[in-house]
Amino acid sequence: MRKTIISVMLSIILICSYTVININAKDYNNDDKLLIERANSILDELGTEGEDYLLQESSMDISVPKINMEAYIRSKQEEINTKGNIKNNQLLRKDTISEILKLYPELDVCDLDNWTYGKYYEYDTEQSMKKYLPTDKEIIELSQKGLKVDDAQRLKSTYGSYKAILDRSNDEIKDALEQIYLSDLESAKNLVVQEPLIISKFNSRGPINDPPDNSTTYTMKVGGDGVTYLKYYWCNVSGYKCDWFLEDTNTHRGDNNITYGARANVLFQKLYNTTESYSSESMWGSYSNSRKWPHEAIDFDYGRGSTVYATFSDDPSISGDATLKISKAYYGRIVYVCGTGSYKYTVSLQHVGDRITSGPISYDDPIGSESGYGANSDPYDFASHTHISIRKGDDTTWDVYDKTLDSDNIYSFVYYHLY
Ligand SMILES: [Zn+2]
Repeated sequence: MRKTIISVMLSIILICSYTVININAKDYNNDDKLLIERANSILDELGTEGEDYLLQESSMDISVPKINMEAYIRSKQEEINTKGNIKNNQLLRKDTISEILKLYPELDVCDLDNWTYGKYYEYDTEQSMKKYLPTDKEIIELSQKGLKVDDAQRLKSTYGSYKAILDRSNDEIKDALEQIYLSDLESAKNLVVQEPLIISKFNSRGPINDPPDNSTTYTMKVGGDGVTYLKYYWCNVSGYKCDWFLEDTNTHRGDNNITYGARANVLFQKLYNTTESYSSESMWGSYSNSRKWPHEAIDFDYGRGSTVYATFSDDPSISGDATLKISKAYYGRIVYVCGTGSYKYTVSLQHVGDRITSGPISYDDPIGSESGYGANSDPYDFASHTHISIRKGDDTTWDVYDKTLDSDNIYSFVYYHLY
């Protein structure tokens, strides 16, 4: 659901208004001015004067100030956690090590029993950074457009690929970035860093503290029918990046930020029948800048045309054959139900091409190919990716963006069906 049909419609409206009534162009400029004023007033409130490192050079000469979110969050955490990040000096938990090996099997030869969380996070950050970088050729093309690499990486969640960003008009990209810069300032303004709990529980390896990097939140007010407050936590998910996750996902609790990344990897490898490490632009419950809601699925990206396989347990006593419920070109939906009793789940995929049209589906069956089907039932409605979510029981409701996270924990499904 990355490419924004709404924004396409909006830009059509904008283009039409601009052509027909000239005054709308003036209003638009006023909006722009208001946005810059608003951003500057938040910046004043934050009191970042004299802390220039917190501001970064913007892309495309954008006038909205661009804050270095990660540096800002780190500086706030250091103010609160004067003793430093305690968890970074602790040894990895045994059960967490087995999850890590599902994402980084090459670490099996290392003595992970003696690795601290700090050492693991360093390794993970380096691997993730490499994975999501544009190619050298793309870096040149992005810089010709005036785009910084970090901004291009942010935009990739909206447009799906660096190529898709390069294909967009400068005006559209500028608008999208202005919104991202402003939304970073808003989240900085509403940021709350909690003091880490000293000791929450013990295990055989000693006390487990709630890690400071998982105790940073911001709460945003969302409109619509009535006012809702959504609380997000800043978490670094293994194999992904630092992002805001809706509180309900529990990504911030214990070692879930590592476990969820490992399980996303298992799901990805099963979905595409590959040994490559997963690539995702949006995770379950991560905040979407373009949609302003938590994302109710995982968006995986393996390449247009890649075969997509059915994902459920190879143990017939758990899953049996799956029943195909929906297979349509509209948004490329494939929905099937697998499992019985408490293992019964509905798996929903979107944007899929070459879909199977009748069931039942057996374990390991190819069910389609990665594509970009959307509202126009056209394979190029979206940059190619697969949007996958699960619900407990037999429930074929759409999982897109919503104030509430209605889809169930996809990582529990992975645990029951793919471990
Ligand atoms: Zn999606």
